[in-house]
Amino acid sequence: MNTAEFDFSFLEEGFSAKDIVEQKINESSMTDDRDAFYVCDLGDVLKKHLRWARALPRVSPFYAVKCNDSQAVLMTLASLGTGFDCASKTEIQLVQSLGVDPSRIIYANPCKQVSQIKYASTHGVQMMTFDSEMELMKVARCHNNAKLVLRIATDDSKAVCRLSIKFGAQLKACRGLLEKAKELGLDVIGVSFHVGSGCTDSAAFKQAIADARCVFDMGLVLGFCMNLLDIGGGFPGSEDADIKFEEITAVINPALDKYFPVDSGVRIIAEPGRFYVASAYTLVVNIIAKKVLIDDDSASDEEDEGVIDRSLMYYVNDGVYGSFNCILYDHAHCLPTLHKKPKPDEAMYRCSIWGPTCDGLDRIVEQCNLPDMHVGDWLLFENMGAYTVAASSTFNGFQKPDIHYVISRPAWQHVQQIYAQGLPVPAESCTLDVPACCGREKNLEIPSKSPQAHVV
Ligand SMILES: *Cc1c(COP(=O)(O)O)cnc(C)c1O
Repeated sequence: MNTAEFDFSFLEEGFSAKDIVEQKINESSMTDDRDAFYVCDLGDVLKKHLRWARALPRVSPFYAVKCNDSQAVLMTLASLGTGFDCASKTEIQLVQSLGVDPSRIIYANPCKQVSQIKYASTHGVQMMTFDSEMELMKVARCHNNAKLVLRIATDDSKAVCRLSIKFGAQLKACRGLLEKAKELGLDVIGVSFHVGSGCTDSAAFKQAIADARCVFDMGLVLGFCMNLLDIGGGFPGSEDADIKFEEITAVINPALDKYFPVDSGVRIIAEPGRFYVASAYTLVVNIIAKKVLIDDDSASDEEDEGVIDRSLMYYVNDGVYGSFNCILYDHAHCLPTLHKKPKPDEAMYRCSIWGPTCDGLDRIVEQCNLPDMHVGDWLLFENMGAYTVAASSTFNGFQKPDIHYVISRPAWQHVQQIYAQGLPVPAESCTLDVPACCGREKNLEIPSKSPQAHVV
């Protein structure tokens, strides 16, 4: 048995995650030790889950672990009964260590190492994606009771992060792949796609769902029992995205009803990553150094017109080798929120913001307007839960920020309620005695040891 451990704190009534940010800043400001830190509101993950259920009632989410693999997030989602999209042996291990039944895992990597396919096989993970003949041959050799899902390419030209250049079979290749699967005696149960991460175009979903229907029909003709549609990820995770979640789902739902009506008996799943975690995390960084640049090219006589001929460089204690790797890998544009509200007449300066490492590439913001701040002041970055901590390094010896997990008591109780109402999994298949975040009703009391709850 493996009891996952993570520390979290209950929010006192009337307090929000924002108040905890403030409190941590105050505590930290008493000392010289002003390390960057995160506050993660697990209640926000719950909110997203409820929003998902409301907007996509026919679609079961399988959270994409790569987006943020923190125990706290995974435990919360496991308690809420989501499935998981794992791409590797280690992700499968991690999710199974939380007591998640293998039926709630899809191994959604179309190009897998043979030894890892074997691992899935011996650990009961059957659902897996493929998009090539070679993959079918590997699976036929070492996982003959796999339930295969054919990943098709999509038009992801309007996504922030494209995926269909690397993954997904073209429609014209699908018949051949299905015939090959038949020949090898493999079981194909459905179709998956991913419209690209940070999708800004709901039409891409509509087209992909229609394409999936074509491939379903090919599979049915060949005698496969096609009963799973996986609409992938790509859903926005914060309100500052170019498209609202509900604008996308307003297109998805009618497309599902048209091509995969309820009476078709097809089970529909998705693999949201960003959607669940982006807005739960706020990163708080400290200004560790500052430079003032005098602009040569601003003519001196402009000064009396109020144009300020200085620009500022701020250096903070997390950067692109840490949390802000999302700028390089996830094409993110991160802008800070001020900790101290500027006065209405406060002068603003052209500023750039840099990470702490010695690499010139380590720049967080090329240009933005900020007031004159000092070494020791704080800056906030919101919506930092997706593709941040998951890929950060300690390059140059800069440590990853601590993460303070918080949840309100009503949110915690709501999670417990959903858990108690039952997962689609028989209880005996759960390997945990009392999953840390999955307290049953009798266990609504906070477990004294794991996880440790500190009331703040
Ligand atoms: C990364 C990934 C996801 C998650 O994508 P989001 O855009 O974060 O929702 C889902 N499925 C697969 C196969 C992925 O590679």
